Amino acid sequence: MVNPDEILKQVTDEVVVCPKCDLQFSRKNAVPGAGPSNAQVMLIGEAPGFFENEKGLPFVGPAGKFLDELIEKGGLKREDVFITNIVKCRPPGNRDPEQGELDACSNYLERQIAAIDPLVIVTLGRFSMARYLPNAKISQVHGQRQWVKGRLIVTMYHPAAALHQPRLKETLLNDFSRLSQWIKEAKQHRPTPQDPEGVPEPDDDAQQLSLF
Ligand code: URA
Ligand code: SF4
Repeated sequence: MVNPDEILKQVTDEVVVCPKCDLQFSRKNAVPGAGPSNAQVMLIGEAPGFFENEKGLPFVGPAGKFLDELIEKGGLKREDVFITNIVKCRPPGNRDPEQGELDACSNYLERQIAAIDPLVIVTLGRFSMARYLPNAKISQVHGQRQWVKGRLIVTMYHPAAALHQPRLKETLLNDFSRLSQWIKEAKQHRPTPQDPEGVPEPDDDAQQLSLF
């Protein structure tokens, strides 16, 4: 098997010179993502903003500062988790990413997820949520977990949303406070060579939505 660090480095090397969509023309720096290859938790945001485009690193502006607080609330540190976005270059003026850009960029994220193989994926905001729950409403599924192929997917509001709507701050802090419990659960249910089926997965929080 190829070493996960090598796969991540390969993805980074491709992203920083990527010509696959028009965001290549407006970016200053692409933002491939950052964190250890053996992270148990992966956080997936939307797209780089102004500060990220300047530095080439994910979540380094005001939303990133609040994200640090949220990660700590979940019992972790930024160095423990892998942080990236579904789109690796900044859309001009921070507009929403377009479908063609999402499609062009998705292979990078897929390879990062395969290399890291995290126990828990936390989606931040509706665009990364839509990767897993295309028809869901974030106001209904925030702070909930679903099993997808032996891995827990947790859908959260985007931390930037709380900067515009202060009442979401408490909601996000509350949702993130359950993260360490989810990691524990995901560990218990991960298949092992001794137990290839894993322990049966408990019900999804949002199973009634039947979103897949
Ligand atoms: N918002 C995001 O979705 N990603 C970042 O990296 C920064 C802000
Ligand atoms: Fe390439 Fe993704 Fe950047 Fe588009 S957004 S240029 S697909 S890295």
